[in-house]
Amino acid sequence: MASSGLASVDQIERQLTFALVGGGTVGVEMAGALAEMSRMALAHDFRHIDPASARICLYESGNRILPTYPERLSKEARRHLESLGVRVYPNARVTTVDSEGIVVGGQRVPAATVLWGAGVVASPAGRWLNAPTDKSGKIIVEPDFSVPGHPDVFAIGDTAHMIASTRNLVGIKSRTPMVMPGLAQPAIQEGKYVANVIRLRALGRPAPAPFWYWDKGDLAIVGRTYAGRICGSRVLRGSRHGSSGRAYIFISSSDSQIGCLSCSNGDLPSLPNVARYAYFLWNGVPHRTLSSGQHDNGTPVGRKNG
Ligand SMILES: Cc1cc2nc3c(=O)[nH]c(=O)nc-3n(C[C@H](O)[C@H](O)[C@H](O)COP(=O)(O)OP(=O)(O)OC[C@H]3O[C@@H](n4cnc5c(N)ncnc54)[C@H](O)[C@@H]3O)c2cc1C
Repeated sequence: MASSGLASVDQIERQLTFALVGGGTVGVEMAGALAEMSRMALAHDFRHIDPASARICLYESGNRILPTYPERLSKEARRHLESLGVRVYPNARVTTVDSEGIVVGGQRVPAATVLWGAGVVASPAGRWLNAPTDKSGKIIVEPDFSVPGHPDVFAIGDTAHMIASTRNLVGIKSRTPMVMPGLAQPAIQEGKYVANVIRLRALGRPAPAPFWYWDKGDLAIVGRTYAGRICGSRVLRGSRHGSSGRAYIFISSSDSQIGCLSCSNGDLPSLPNVARYAYFLWNGVPHRTLSSGQHDNGTPVGRKNG
Protein backbone atom coordinates (compact mmCIF):
# COMPACT_ATOMS: atom_id res chain seq x y z
CA MET A 1 0.00 0.00 0.00
CA ALA A 2 2.70 2.45 1.00
CA SER A 3 4.92 1.44 -1.92
CA SER A 4 2.14 2.26 -4.46
CA GLY A 5 2.32 5.87 -3.38
CA LEU A 6 -1.48 6.00 -3.38
CA ALA A 7 -1.99 5.65 0.35
CA SER A 8 -2.73 8.77 2.34
CA VAL A 9 -0.86 9.59 5.52
CA ASP A 10 -4.05 8.79 7.48
CA GLN A 11 -4.33 5.37 5.87
CA ILE A 12 -0.73 4.53 6.66
CA GLU A 13 -1.17 5.78 10.24
CA ARG A 14 -4.25 3.61 10.65
CA GLN A 15 -2.35 0.57 9.37
CA LEU A 16 0.45 1.29 11.80
CA THR A 17 -1.83 1.72 14.81
CA PHE A 18 -2.21 -1.21 17.16
CA ALA A 19 -4.97 -0.83 19.76
CA LEU A 20 -4.70 -3.21 22.68
CA VAL A 21 -7.81 -3.49 24.82
CA GLY A 22 -7.16 -4.47 28.43
CA GLY A 23 -4.07 -3.79 30.52
CA GLY A 24 -3.86 -7.17 32.24
CA THR A 25 -1.00 -9.59 31.73
CA VAL A 26 -2.00 -10.44 28.16
CA GLY A 27 -2.30 -6.80 27.02
CA VAL A 28 0.87 -5.68 28.77
CA GLU A 29 2.96 -8.53 27.43
CA MET A 30 1.57 -8.12 23.94
CA ALA A 31 2.26 -4.37 23.98
CA GLY A 32 5.85 -4.95 25.09
CA ALA A 33 6.42 -7.56 22.40
CA LEU A 34 4.91 -5.39 19.65
CA ALA A 35 6.93 -2.37 20.70
CA GLU A 36 10.15 -4.32 20.60
CA MET A 37 9.29 -5.92 17.27
CA SER A 38 8.53 -2.59 15.64
CA ARG A 39 11.47 -0.74 17.10
CA MET A 40 14.09 -3.47 16.95
CA ALA A 41 13.35 -6.71 15.10
CA LEU A 42 11.55 -5.11 12.12
CA ALA A 43 13.10 -1.65 12.28
CA HIS A 44 15.12 -2.01 9.06
CA ASP A 45 12.97 -4.45 7.10
CA PHE A 46 10.77 -2.03 5.09
CA ARG A 47 11.64 0.64 2.56
CA HIS A 48 8.34 2.52 2.38
CA ILE A 49 7.24 2.57 5.99
CA ASP A 50 9.04 3.08 9.24
CA PRO A 51 7.97 0.31 11.65
CA ALA A 52 9.37 2.37 14.51
CA SER A 53 6.60 4.91 13.91
CA ALA A 54 3.96 2.30 14.81
CA ARG A 55 1.55 3.58 17.47
CA ILE A 56 1.01 0.94 20.11
CA CYS A 57 -1.84 2.04 22.38
CA LEU A 58 -2.83 0.13 25.49
CA TYR A 59 -6.28 0.95 26.93
CA GLU A 60 -7.24 -0.11 30.45
CA SER A 61 -10.61 0.69 32.01
CA GLY A 62 -9.19 0.56 35.55
CA ASN A 63 -6.92 3.20 36.99
CA ARG A 64 -3.73 1.19 36.43
CA ILE A 65 -2.36 -1.58 34.26
CA LEU A 66 -1.71 -5.01 35.82
CA PRO A 67 -4.50 -4.37 38.35
CA THR A 68 -4.03 -7.73 40.07
CA TYR A 69 -0.37 -7.02 40.76
CA PRO A 70 0.99 -4.77 43.53
CA GLU A 71 0.87 -1.09 42.63
CA ARG A 72 4.64 -0.81 42.55
CA LEU A 73 4.89 -3.43 39.80
CA SER A 74 2.12 -1.71 37.86
CA LYS A 75 3.99 1.57 37.96
CA GLU A 76 7.27 -0.02 36.92
CA ALA A 77 5.65 -1.97 34.11
CA ARG A 78 4.01 1.22 32.85
CA ARG A 79 7.31 3.10 32.99
CA HIS A 80 9.01 0.31 31.12
CA LEU A 81 6.30 0.14 28.45
CA GLU A 82 6.46 3.90 27.95
CA SER A 83 10.21 3.72 27.59
CA LEU A 84 9.58 1.28 24.73
CA GLY A 85 7.23 3.80 23.12
CA VAL A 86 3.90 2.25 24.16
CA ARG A 87 1.13 4.77 24.90
CA VAL A 88 -0.62 3.66 28.06
CA TYR A 89 -4.16 4.93 28.74
CA PRO A 90 -5.61 4.05 32.15
CA ASN A 91 -9.26 4.89 32.96
CA ALA A 92 -10.08 4.28 29.30
CA ARG A 93 -13.03 2.02 28.61
CA VAL A 94 -13.33 0.76 25.05
CA THR A 95 -16.99 0.64 24.05
CA THR A 96 -16.85 -0.35 20.37
CA VAL A 97 -14.59 -2.49 18.22
CA ASP A 98 -15.25 -2.56 14.47
CA SER A 99 -13.44 -2.74 11.16
CA GLU A 100 -12.36 0.90 11.44
CA GLY A 101 -10.80 0.64 14.88
CA ILE A 102 -12.19 1.37 18.33
CA VAL A 103 -14.25 3.90 20.26
CA VAL A 104 -12.80 4.80 23.63
CA GLY A 105 -14.26 7.40 25.97
CA GLY A 106 -16.61 8.45 23.15
CA GLN A 107 -13.72 9.10 20.75
CA ARG A 108 -12.96 7.06 17.67
CA VAL A 109 -9.41 5.82 17.25
CA PRO A 110 -8.69 4.50 13.73
CA ALA A 111 -6.68 1.28 14.01
CA ALA A 112 -6.22 -1.53 11.51
CA THR A 113 -5.25 -3.98 14.24
CA VAL A 114 -7.22 -4.34 17.46
CA LEU A 115 -6.09 -6.92 20.00
CA TRP A 116 -8.53 -7.96 22.70
CA GLY A 117 -6.97 -8.73 26.08
CA ALA A 118 -9.90 -7.74 28.26
CA GLY A 119 -11.03 -11.19 29.28
CA VAL A 120 -13.30 -13.94 28.09
CA VAL A 121 -16.79 -15.11 28.90
CA ALA A 122 -17.29 -18.58 30.32
CA SER A 123 -18.70 -21.49 28.35
CA PRO A 124 -22.51 -21.64 28.09
CA ALA A 125 -22.62 -24.68 30.40
CA GLY A 126 -24.18 -22.60 33.17
CA ARG A 127 -27.07 -21.63 30.92
CA TRP A 128 -27.57 -25.20 29.73
CA LEU A 129 -27.87 -26.37 33.35
CA ASN A 130 -29.87 -23.35 34.50
CA ALA A 131 -27.28 -22.99 37.25
CA PRO A 132 -26.39 -19.85 39.21
CA THR A 133 -23.59 -17.96 37.45
CA ASP A 134 -21.43 -14.91 38.07
CA LYS A 135 -21.27 -11.97 35.68
CA SER A 136 -18.88 -13.71 33.28
CA GLY A 137 -21.08 -16.79 33.11
CA LYS A 138 -19.03 -19.03 35.42
CA ILE A 139 -21.07 -21.51 37.44
CA ILE A 140 -21.07 -20.71 41.16
CA VAL A 141 -20.16 -24.21 42.27
CA GLU A 142 -20.56 -26.05 45.56
CA PRO A 143 -17.45 -26.58 47.74
CA ASP A 144 -16.82 -29.93 45.99
CA PHE A 145 -17.19 -28.28 42.54
CA SER A 146 -20.54 -29.91 41.88
CA VAL A 147 -23.17 -27.78 40.17
CA PRO A 148 -25.93 -26.65 42.56
CA GLY A 149 -28.93 -28.93 42.08
CA HIS A 150 -26.83 -31.40 40.05
CA PRO A 151 -24.62 -33.30 42.51
CA ASP A 152 -23.32 -35.56 39.74
CA VAL A 153 -22.23 -32.73 37.46
CA PHE A 154 -18.97 -30.88 38.18
CA ALA A 155 -17.59 -27.65 36.80
CA ILE A 156 -13.91 -26.69 37.03
CA GLY A 157 -11.41 -24.27 35.50
CA ASP A 158 -12.72 -21.36 33.48
CA THR A 159 -16.28 -22.66 33.81
CA ALA A 160 -16.32 -22.55 37.62
CA HIS A 161 -16.63 -19.71 40.08
CA MET A 162 -15.06 -20.98 43.30
CA ILE A 163 -13.96 -19.15 46.43
CA ALA A 164 -11.25 -21.11 48.20
CA SER A 165 -8.39 -20.81 50.66
CA THR A 166 -5.02 -20.19 49.15
CA ARG A 167 -1.51 -21.18 50.10
CA ASN A 168 1.56 -19.51 48.71
CA LEU A 169 4.60 -21.15 47.20
CA VAL A 170 5.93 -22.30 50.56
CA GLY A 171 2.54 -23.46 51.81
CA ILE A 172 1.57 -20.54 54.06
CA LYS A 173 -2.17 -20.06 54.13
CA SER A 174 -3.62 -16.65 53.26
CA ARG A 175 -5.97 -14.98 55.71
CA THR A 176 -8.84 -14.55 53.32
CA PRO A 177 -10.21 -17.02 50.77
CA MET A 178 -10.30 -15.69 47.23
CA VAL A 179 -12.07 -16.25 43.95
CA MET A 180 -10.03 -18.65 41.87
CA PRO A 181 -8.36 -16.77 39.02
CA GLY A 182 -8.92 -17.84 35.41
CA LEU A 183 -5.51 -19.45 35.04
CA ALA A 184 -4.09 -22.83 34.19
CA GLN A 185 -2.83 -23.49 37.74
CA PRO A 186 -6.23 -23.51 39.45
CA ALA A 187 -7.80 -25.38 36.52
CA ILE A 188 -5.24 -28.20 36.85
CA GLN A 189 -5.51 -28.37 40.64
CA GLU A 190 -9.31 -28.35 40.51
CA GLY A 191 -9.25 -31.19 37.98
CA LYS A 192 -7.12 -33.30 40.30
CA TYR A 193 -9.35 -32.46 43.25
CA VAL A 194 -12.55 -33.41 41.46
CA ALA A 195 -11.00 -36.66 40.22
CA ASN A 196 -10.39 -37.52 43.86
CA VAL A 197 -13.95 -36.52 44.85
CA ILE A 198 -15.32 -38.90 42.22
CA ARG A 199 -12.89 -41.68 43.20
CA LEU A 200 -13.84 -41.46 46.89
CA ARG A 201 -17.53 -41.37 46.05
CA ALA A 202 -17.14 -44.49 43.89
CA LEU A 203 -15.40 -46.24 46.79
CA GLY A 204 -18.17 -45.17 49.17
CA ARG A 205 -15.66 -43.22 51.28
CA PRO A 206 -16.10 -39.78 52.88
CA ALA A 207 -15.50 -36.67 50.80
CA PRO A 208 -11.98 -35.17 50.87
CA ALA A 209 -11.04 -32.05 52.86
CA PRO A 210 -12.14 -28.79 51.20
CA PHE A 211 -10.19 -27.64 48.16
CA TRP A 212 -7.37 -25.16 48.66
CA TYR A 213 -5.40 -23.49 45.94
CA TRP A 214 -1.63 -23.66 45.87
CA ASP A 215 -0.72 -20.32 44.34
CA LYS A 216 2.75 -20.58 42.88
CA GLY A 217 2.78 -16.93 41.81
CA ASP A 218 2.21 -14.83 38.73
CA LEU A 219 4.71 -13.58 36.23
CA ALA A 220 4.47 -10.77 33.71
CA ILE A 221 7.20 -10.39 31.11
CA VAL A 222 7.31 -6.96 29.53
CA GLY A 223 9.50 -7.15 26.47
CA ARG A 224 12.99 -8.58 26.77
CA THR A 225 14.20 -6.38 29.55
CA TYR A 226 11.67 -6.34 32.38
CA ALA A 227 9.85 -9.00 34.35
CA GLY A 228 7.79 -8.86 37.51
CA ARG A 229 6.51 -11.71 39.58
CA ILE A 230 4.33 -12.01 42.63
CA CYS A 231 4.60 -15.01 44.91
CA GLY A 232 1.96 -14.48 47.60
CA SER A 233 3.04 -11.34 49.39
CA ARG A 234 6.53 -11.51 47.89
CA VAL A 235 7.35 -9.35 44.93
CA LEU A 236 10.21 -10.08 42.58
CA ARG A 237 11.17 -7.98 39.68
CA GLY A 238 14.14 -7.46 37.50
CA SER A 239 15.36 -5.51 34.58
CA ARG A 240 18.43 -5.43 32.51
CA HIS A 241 19.97 -2.35 31.04
CA GLY A 242 22.77 -2.17 28.53
CA SER A 243 23.28 -3.59 25.13
CA SER A 244 24.84 -7.00 25.55
CA GLY A 245 22.53 -8.96 27.80
CA ARG A 246 18.83 -9.39 28.40
CA ALA A 247 16.53 -9.52 31.36
CA TYR A 248 16.41 -12.69 33.27
CA ILE A 249 13.46 -14.79 32.31
CA PHE A 250 12.53 -17.50 34.70
CA ILE A 251 10.60 -20.58 33.90
CA SER A 252 8.46 -22.14 36.55
CA SER A 253 7.30 -25.50 35.39
CA SER A 254 3.82 -26.58 36.34
CA ASP A 255 5.07 -29.39 38.49
CA SER A 256 7.99 -27.93 40.35
CA GLN A 257 7.94 -25.50 43.22
CA ILE A 258 11.03 -23.69 42.22
CA GLY A 259 11.53 -22.46 38.72
CA CYS A 260 14.80 -21.84 37.06
CA LEU A 261 16.54 -19.15 35.14
CA SER A 262 16.93 -19.37 31.45
CA CYS A 263 19.82 -18.02 29.48
CA SER A 264 18.87 -15.85 26.57
CA ASN A 265 19.77 -18.49 24.01
CA GLY A 266 17.61 -21.11 25.72
CA ASP A 267 20.54 -23.01 27.24
CA LEU A 268 20.07 -24.65 30.56
CA PRO A 269 20.66 -22.24 33.41
CA SER A 270 23.80 -22.58 35.42
CA LEU A 271 23.56 -24.03 38.90
CA PRO A 272 24.62 -20.80 40.65
CA ASN A 273 21.82 -18.96 38.86
CA VAL A 274 19.25 -21.54 39.93
CA ALA A 275 20.54 -21.27 43.48
CA ARG A 276 20.34 -17.47 43.35
CA TYR A 277 16.84 -17.60 41.95
CA ALA A 278 15.79 -20.02 44.67
CA TYR A 279 17.33 -17.73 47.26
CA PHE A 280 15.55 -14.64 45.97
CA LEU A 281 12.31 -16.52 45.52
CA TRP A 282 12.49 -17.59 49.11
CA ASN A 283 13.41 -14.18 50.44
CA GLY A 284 11.46 -12.03 48.04
CA VAL A 285 14.25 -9.52 47.75
CA PRO A 286 13.88 -7.10 44.87
CA HIS A 287 16.92 -7.52 42.70
CA ARG A 288 18.41 -6.69 39.38
CA THR A 289 21.20 -9.16 38.87
CA LEU A 290 19.67 -12.54 38.17
CA SER A 291 20.42 -12.68 34.48
CA SER A 292 23.18 -14.83 33.17
CA GLY A 293 22.99 -12.43 30.24
CA GLN A 294 25.66 -14.13 28.17
CA HIS A 295 23.87 -14.17 24.85
CA ASP A 296 21.38 -12.00 23.15
CA ASN A 297 19.77 -13.54 20.13
CA GLY A 298 16.73 -11.37 20.61
CA THR A 299 14.27 -14.22 21.05
CA PRO A 300 12.37 -14.14 24.33
CA VAL A 301 12.08 -17.48 26.01
CA GLY A 302 9.82 -18.16 28.92
CA ARG A 303 6.78 -19.89 30.19
CA LYS A 304 4.48 -18.61 32.81
CA ASN A 305 2.40 -19.42 35.71
CA GLY A 306 3.74 -22.09 37.90
C1 LIG B 1 -5.04 -15.13 25.63
C2 LIG B 1 -4.96 -15.94 26.90
C3 LIG B 1 -3.73 -16.05 27.53
C4 LIG B 1 -3.63 -16.80 28.70
N1 LIG B 1 -2.42 -16.90 29.30
C5 LIG B 1 -2.29 -17.65 30.40
C6 LIG B 1 -1.04 -17.81 31.01
O1 LIG B 1 -0.04 -17.28 30.57
N2 LIG B 1 -0.97 -18.58 32.12
C7 LIG B 1 -2.07 -19.21 32.64
O2 LIG B 1 -1.96 -19.90 33.64
N3 LIG B 1 -3.27 -19.06 32.09
C8 LIG B 1 -3.42 -18.30 30.98
N4 LIG B 1 -4.65 -18.15 30.41
C9 LIG B 1 -5.81 -18.78 31.05
C10 LIG B 1 -5.82 -20.28 30.81
O3 LIG B 1 -5.67 -20.55 29.43
C11 LIG B 1 -7.16 -20.85 31.30
O4 LIG B 1 -7.44 -20.40 32.60
C12 LIG B 1 -7.12 -22.36 31.34
O5 LIG B 1 -6.81 -22.86 30.04
C13 LIG B 1 -8.49 -22.90 31.78
O6 LIG B 1 -8.53 -24.29 31.59
P1 LIG B 1 -9.91 -24.97 31.22
O7 LIG B 1 -9.58 -26.43 31.11
O8 LIG B 1 -10.97 -24.56 32.16
O9 LIG B 1 -10.36 -24.41 29.81
P2 LIG B 1 -9.61 -24.51 28.41
O10 LIG B 1 -8.15 -24.68 28.55
O11 LIG B 1 -10.14 -23.37 27.60
O12 LIG B 1 -10.15 -25.89 27.82
C14 LIG B 1 -11.47 -26.03 27.39
C15 LIG B 1 -11.44 -26.96 26.19
O13 LIG B 1 -12.78 -27.38 25.92
C16 LIG B 1 -13.06 -27.25 24.54
N5 LIG B 1 -14.50 -27.02 24.40
C17 LIG B 1 -15.17 -25.87 24.64
N6 LIG B 1 -16.50 -26.05 24.43
C18 LIG B 1 -16.66 -27.33 24.08
C19 LIG B 1 -17.78 -28.13 23.75
N7 LIG B 1 -19.01 -27.61 23.73
N8 LIG B 1 -17.58 -29.42 23.45
C20 LIG B 1 -16.33 -29.93 23.47
N9 LIG B 1 -15.23 -29.24 23.77
C21 LIG B 1 -15.39 -27.95 24.08
C22 LIG B 1 -12.21 -26.08 24.09
O14 LIG B 1 -11.96 -26.13 22.71
C23 LIG B 1 -10.95 -26.28 24.93
O15 LIG B 1 -10.04 -27.13 24.29
C24 LIG B 1 -4.77 -17.43 29.24
C25 LIG B 1 -6.00 -17.31 28.59
C26 LIG B 1 -6.09 -16.56 27.44
C27 LIG B 1 -7.43 -16.45 26.74
